[in-house]
Amino acid sequence: MINKKLENTDPTIAELIEKEGNRQQNGLEMIPSENHSSPAVRQALGSILTDKYSEGYPKKRYYGGNQFIDEVELTAIARAKELFGVEHVNVQPYSGSPANQAVYFAVLEPGDTVMGQHLFAGGHLTHGWGVNFSGRFYKSAQYQVGQDGYLNLDEIRQLALEHKPKLIWCGATAYPREFPFAEMSKIADEVGAYFATDIAHIAGLVAGGAHASPVPYAHIITTTTHKTLRGPRGAMIMVTKKGLEKDPELPEKIDKAVFPGLQGGPHNHQTAAIAVALGEALKPEFKTYAAQIVKNAKALAESLTKNGIKLISNGTDNHLLLIDLTPFGKGKGLFGQEGLEKAGITVNKNTIPNDPASAFYPSGIRLGTPALTTRGMKEKEMEKIGEIIAQALKIACAFDFTIDDKEKRKKDIKEFKKLIGQETKLNELKQTIEDLCKDFPLP
Ligand SMILES: *Cc1c(COP(=O)(O)O)cnc(C)c1O
Repeated sequence: MINKKLENTDPTIAELIEKEGNRQQNGLEMIPSENHSSPAVRQALGSILTDKYSEGYPKKRYYGGNQFIDEVELTAIARAKELFGVEHVNVQPYSGSPANQAVYFAVLEPGDTVMGQHLFAGGHLTHGWGVNFSGRFYKSAQYQVGQDGYLNLDEIRQLALEHKPKLIWCGATAYPREFPFAEMSKIADEVGAYFATDIAHIAGLVAGGAHASPVPYAHIITTTTHKTLRGPRGAMIMVTKKGLEKDPELPEKIDKAVFPGLQGGPHNHQTAAIAVALGEALKPEFKTYAAQIVKNAKALAESLTKNGIKLISNGTDNHLLLIDLTPFGKGKGLFGQEGLEKAGITVNKNTIPNDPASAFYPSGIRLGTPALTTRGMKEKEMEKIGEIIAQALKIACAFDFTIDDKEKRKKDIKEFKKLIGQETKLNELKQTIEDLCKDFPLP
């Protein structure tokens, strides 16, 4: 897998890449925003296209020599239009956060009001969070999820009527249920706001028909390309027919916001790899993949529940699950994350709705099935993995700590980190996971 030349010219980095490859192969990547891209995607990403400057857009560049780069970008755009059924696509945003920033830049003035899902309720930083640009340069109204884990549309509507946002976001990083695009778009229409859906997490599910599409309802759609869509790290901004009807200049506004508003030269190697990933997503197999991600998530939810683990909203409609660790005490996310890591399972600690602890010591674990599904795992494996996760969580969360006393907390966590390494049961589980992984090679 490693380029032989790199091994010779820079053994330090070659070895680190090799080690990361082994880590991925021998463990379970269950962070729901991650995936394993195909060799074809990685080949395009590692290509000489990285050497080329091409500020501007196809046929309108500020540099010469772009005849092939133009074709690459036009191919990516055409495939995205076909895959999602949208009118206009910009494939140049460097990643998801800059894509969202471009939307603000395109349709708002500084000081305008936006509305998005609260970070602690699963929303994204770029949807109006205080320390993020979106909360510093714009006024922000944030909606929560209810005690049942679902978005509460009555509350969202009330908030919208009260704050009159100019832009409403729908989309999140930690929401295990179907997004109510149709209902949210009605609220946006009622207050005259732009309705932007951020499908960073679920783009692959939307493309594969495993989640309802926002295209009939949104004006603007942003997405990353490296999550369920299984491409390279990158992003796209799309304008729908409804978006064009609201504002015929939306495509130009978006394009101008990306370049020259926020970015310089596009990452052409990334654009090529996005085109490859979109080509893969247009194949019938991708539908099967998307459906299997959801089947696996549901099977995992069932297994965890059967093994005594509590889930926010009691299950999932998509690729991710949010474990509620409060039955073990408050703020146990860190313990759960470390315990699972010792067992060879990578997840992340996460706040849960109305978290009784804090953002740094949250009470939940976020995990998902996109990467495992890429490796070919199915319901049978999910059942087993659910058992292992439950066992590991019970071991790790049995440790206690003092959350409210900083000095004591530090000591408790240090002690936990020492002792968790000595848990023989976790080592046994890690061995079981490694054996399982042998049958499911990375792509
Ligand atoms: C991941 C994500 C982003 C940002 O993507 P980056 O590429 O990490 O900047 C934006 N919005 C949502 C909802 C996401 O999940």
